[in-house]
Amino acid sequence: MAATIWYENDGDLSVLSGKKVAILGYGSQGHAHALNLRDSGVDVVVGLRPSSKSVEFAKEQGLEVKPIEDAVAEADVVMILLPDQYQAKVYKEQVEPNLKPGAALAFAHGFNIHYGYIKPSEDHPVFMVAPKGPGHIVRREYAAGRGVPVVVAVEQDPRGDAWGITLAYAKALGALRAGAIKTTFTEETETDLFGEQDVLMGGVNHLVEAGFEVLTEAGYQPEIAYFEVCHELKMLVDLMNEGGLNKARWSCSDTAQYGDFTSTVVDESTKDRMRYQLKRIQDGSFAKEFMDDQAAGAPKFKELQEKFSHEKIEEVGPKLRAMFSWNNGPAADADEAESFNGKIARTQVQ
Ligand code: NAD
Ligand code: MG
Repeated sequence: MAATIWYENDGDLSVLSGKKVAILGYGSQGHAHALNLRDSGVDVVVGLRPSSKSVEFAKEQGLEVKPIEDAVAEADVVMILLPDQYQAKVYKEQVEPNLKPGAALAFAHGFNIHYGYIKPSEDHPVFMVAPKGPGHIVRREYAAGRGVPVVVAVEQDPRGDAWGITLAYAKALGALRAGAIKTTFTEETETDLFGEQDVLMGGVNHLVEAGFEVLTEAGYQPEIAYFEVCHELKMLVDLMNEGGLNKARWSCSDTAQYGDFTSTVVDESTKDRMRYQLKRIQDGSFAKEFMDDQAAGAPKFKELQEKFSHEKIEEVGPKLRAMFSWNNGPAADADEAESFNGKIARTQVQ
């Protein structure tokens, strides 16, 4: 079945006129949504903790900023752009008690709705506009007159107007310039987690480290191993983005292609382990493990972060990356760094 994709003419901005949109959070996604919607003529209020460092920053950008409770109380649409693990608590304590009857609730990732950590009452439309890129790119592309594609979904539609609001929101974000693909909360959440665990991070990161260990354990110099199993990855991924696997293969030597075609590294047993991971995503056990740990103060998460920050490849990585003079800034340019709110440019895998 071919996907449904919506473009610029499919969204009607007037759906949001006379309505107030509260953006909760001013991080990677929050700042981009707030600024893009505001610049599209939408009446935006940013909801933040009064102690948040972002309050001043959002005000400097000319945005109206209020405590979360107050922003929610006056909003017709509430977009929740807080870290996924904190959304349920904020929803219960600060959003739900202040939500106007019939106000729409929006998300940029389906996690909390899909796994039932947030259960809005039936009178609220619930929709998702999830950009397929980090927030600073969502902002940069909008400012350049382009847009980052999104996936969109509707979970609750009590009045029959949820899709109209969703597409108006996506248009105001600049996303319909690129395209919005119709999905569901279930599909977005499960495939997003799968991508992270099995290919993008859980796949590639471990593959790189394993390759580095095999080469260095066999006596090769770490500097050389780094180049071969890590540095060159970017060039290959750039080619994939431009022209898919075929272009990536075509631009490599015949020797490389033959080695690729005959490699035994990824096989049916790898797919079996992917299916195992997928099952844990589908039955909710991955989400439960993550959220239980977060609720306990994230002891396991912190232990793993500490453990994985000492992988062998990072003993040599910093020295070699410094050899690339054009590769040593946190962001590509000053505007981008600024729009990212002073954070190190963290290109979150999405
Ligand atoms: P982030 O960590 O960059 O920003 C979160 C914001 O929430 C910050 O302003 C922070 O100050 C605030 N915050 C944190 N804890 C809070 C609390 N307890 N109470 C109130 N405010 C709090 O988050 P993000 O990466 O923008 O992610 C937001 C949502 O967007 C998530 O659902 C995520 O899955 C989704 N998403 C992110 C990306 C991405 O590339 N970053 C892409 C698509 C979707
Ligand atoms: Mg993702």
